Amino acid sequence: MTTTHNLGFPRIGARRELKFALESYWKGQSDREELHALGAELRRRHWQQQSALDLVPVGDFSFYDQVLDMSFTLGNLPQRVRNFEGDPLDNYFRVARGRSAEPPEAHGPCSGAVAAGEMTKWFDTNYHYIVPEFDADTAFTLDASRLLEQLAEARAQGVPAKPVIVGPVTYLALGKARDGSDKLALLARLLPVYAQLLEALADAGAEWVQIDEPLLVTELDADWQHAFNLAYHQLKSCRVKLLLASYFGPLAENTYLAANLPVAGLHLDAVYGRDSVLTLIDQLPSHKVVSLGVIDGRNIWKTDLTATLDWLEPLHRRLGERLWLAPSCSLLHVPVDLAAERQLDAELAAWLAFAQQKLEELQVLAVALDEGREAVRDALSTNRAACDSRRRSPRVHRPAVREAVAAIDADLARRRSPYAVRAARQAERLRLPAFPTTTIGSFPQTAEIRQARRRYKAGELDAADYREAMEAEIARCVREQEALGLDVLVHGEAERNDMVEYFGEQLDGYAFSQFGWVQSYGSRCVKPPILYGDIARPRPMTVAWTRYAQSLTDKPLKGMLTGPVTLLNWSFVRDDQPREATCRQLALAIREEVLDLERAGVRVIQIDEAALREGLPLRRAQWRGYLDWAVACFRLSANGVADETQIHTHMCYSEFNDIMASIAAMDADVITIETSRSAMELLDAFEDFHYPNQIGPGVYDIHAPNIPDQAHIVGLMEKAAERIPAERLWVNPDCGLKTRRWEEVIPALRSMVSAAKRLRESIARAA
Ligand code: GLN
Ligand code: ZN
Repeated sequence: MTTTHNLGFPRIGARRELKFALESYWKGQSDREELHALGAELRRRHWQQQSALDLVPVGDFSFYDQVLDMSFTLGNLPQRVRNFEGDPLDNYFRVARGRSAEPPEAHGPCSGAVAAGEMTKWFDTNYHYIVPEFDADTAFTLDASRLLEQLAEARAQGVPAKPVIVGPVTYLALGKARDGSDKLALLARLLPVYAQLLEALADAGAEWVQIDEPLLVTELDADWQHAFNLAYHQLKSCRVKLLLASYFGPLAENTYLAANLPVAGLHLDAVYGRDSVLTLIDQLPSHKVVSLGVIDGRNIWKTDLTATLDWLEPLHRRLGERLWLAPSCSLLHVPVDLAAERQLDAELAAWLAFAQQKLEELQVLAVALDEGREAVRDALSTNRAACDSRRRSPRVHRPAVREAVAAIDADLARRRSPYAVRAARQAERLRLPAFPTTTIGSFPQTAEIRQARRRYKAGELDAADYREAMEAEIARCVREQEALGLDVLVHGEAERNDMVEYFGEQLDGYAFSQFGWVQSYGSRCVKPPILYGDIARPRPMTVAWTRYAQSLTDKPLKGMLTGPVTLLNWSFVRDDQPREATCRQLALAIREEVLDLERAGVRVIQIDEAALREGLPLRRAQWRGYLDWAVACFRLSANGVADETQIHTHMCYSEFNDIMASIAAMDADVITIETSRSAMELLDAFEDFHYPNQIGPGVYDIHAPNIPDQAHIVGLMEKAAERIPAERLWVNPDCGLKTRRWEEVIPALRSMVSAAKRLRESIARAA
């Protein structure tokens, strides 16, 4: 019989119950017992939903993050929280968020506040984990209580439990040595604690333990390869069977290494890493289990079960009982249950599978392998019909879009003149002072704005009233910016709920779920739009708002768009064509919008690429290919304009050192980036690489409530001017202002504008 199992289940709850429970606990509106009870209830429910599986993950539930859980299990708490005397759960939240609960009153003493752990992306997903902290003295001590309690809980409910942990090599790789010491030197101290943990799990009745080592799909140097060998040879004698799980890509050159690690079984990503599967099976000692992740764990499409069976059946004949089936990775990255959706049309819904549906697909595959396809004939034929309908649907395949993409030639992606010529023409047209000031686009999203948008969506506000409400906000925003004396204004983005959703809702080829939430970090969830078909822009998306805003001022007003790469990277995208093909379609749609804005007289247009860096492949060897098409798509969207039109782009990060050449190749006239938090150190990248165009290093950290003073901003800009000629510098915040309050934004921007004046005066004096 084929063994079915799962690597992890979404823990946030179908209705985001965990999110709301956490936030209420943090606000002091509920107590710890209630939170624990909700956790237990979610685990029970999720185990029940997985009850058809032969092995069910336990320990994948987390109140915040599975990597932080592992740090606590290993006793690796940051030094600054070690002496905490309160409840361990509160200490856990202090590491996660810098505090255990909101301070009793908004401005009261923030008792128990500490620096939060750093957060970063989990491999190439949009999930973020808390980075383990190490130094040369880091010691580990086992605290297996969380895992043992959940294991006991599961066993008491009759769940065929398979504990899940992050493996030692990946755990070390994900952490940061704060003192610059060698993390790998800690492996010898870490392994005995892992050995104790596995013994404790064996004592508690676990037969299999899933040990996650997604690091295996990345490029490993000799030291890290050696670490894998060392680790698993040392854990070899433990009494549980280890299922070593790799996911998010092919094992590629690590196939031999993985095949020969002394573990009882290996899990492989057979969706994103299918190429390595056969090689691995050829190399695998004949007693080992092979778990194949055949259902896409990070996208929302139905699996083509017939095609999957065509591929699996020969492997099943070859491997027999040794073949296990699972989703490619933890289902943490997909929404819980498609059945909850009420507003998706039936045709589209038939193409989709969320976590619950993915487990059902797994079951069908297992039965088909064990008993033959006849045994699941109906399920297979329904599945085939859905896949066929998706393959043929005119909503997915639009000949006009195909033709437009086929007609793209290199000229479309090229500005008419080189930067120097454009800059001169733009300067003449825009007549901006030195150190021009601007913002990144959004202004505070007040409760009234959100309410107006909500009521409009619910049909309680008609289009005219809604327009009036938004125009009033735009007018306020323009008025405030004029009063502040900013140089290039924005309309404020009041009408936008989200920078991707806003465009997705207006483009053909996009759909939206009601409950398709996915955890991004902690209690924060996102609902990625579903990009299912060829992209077309039926009508202008931003022109009316922008034109209205421009009509209120003589200063240049910046049109504001989300770029094609960001639209792609923050959506669930189609899997029936390469990502780059989808991105090109998005680029053409944004290009049309850019040209419409230009025709409407807009002189400055910003195309945000907040998520460009996020799309970088896990393997460096593939970076070049990705960056080439990503940059080409940006250029395609931006470069149809006349020389006089100024193109801006914005990115919410500043690690540019490794992608600088690509950023420059985007050829935006102006780029605004984040830098304020590191006092411009991040601009070091600009010392080695001569960035040719204009740049606005963020001088106001919008992520913090602090209001920067003028001297601070002048200091930052002077630092920037050491690396970039002053005539190419802009003065701006480091991201949009939508999460801040007007009371914070006004004084901060006032400092910014007065800092720019001061900088101009000092240039004038020097001249
Ligand atoms: N223009 C967007 C804003 O100002 C950019 C947001 C972002 O970079 N994440 O909100
Ligand atoms: Zn940003």
